[in-house]
Amino acid sequence: MQVQKDKVVIIDYTLRNDNGDILDQSAPDAPLAYLHGHNNLIPGLEAELAGKGQGDEIEAHIAPADAYGEYNDNLIEVVPRKMFQGVDEIEPGMQFHAQTGQGVQVVTVKAVDDDNVTIDGNHALAGETLHFNVTIKEVRDASQEELDHGHVHGPGGHHH
Ligand code: ZN
Repeated sequence: MQVQKDKVVIIDYTLRNDNGDILDQSAPDAPLAYLHGHNNLIPGLEAELAGKGQGDEIEAHIAPADAYGEYNDNLIEVVPRKMFQGVDEIEPGMQFHAQTGQGVQVVTVKAVDDDNVTIDGNHALAGETLHFNVTIKEVRDASQEELDHGHVHGPGGHHH
């Protein structure tokens, strides 16, 4: 069975950056299961996997535009520290959910002083070219419920 829209695809993967540092990987006994064609993976990786089958090993190099986007300086903002009421200590690297013009986004604290906090709304991997090694463990039909929900149920997938 080939990887295509509405199939459940089960993969082992390792993600590295340009320096070869491992950014993310599936655990040895816990592959990732995803529903193909439903925006569950970045578009560049779905395109590389389409048409492949069980047992195939894929090496993919995904440019930022097909991954988490280019780095956007306009997403850096300085906001008053008092907006973080209830947070005792604010340190660079902390992440918060923030209501923005584009809905709820994760923002990362870049810098803090007595009055202000500099936050960055870019995805942590924005601007990065992503290097994947993927092994396809299994391709199967999705259940109707999985199709209705737009994600995989059961091991490696979404849990309710
Ligand atoms: Zn569901």
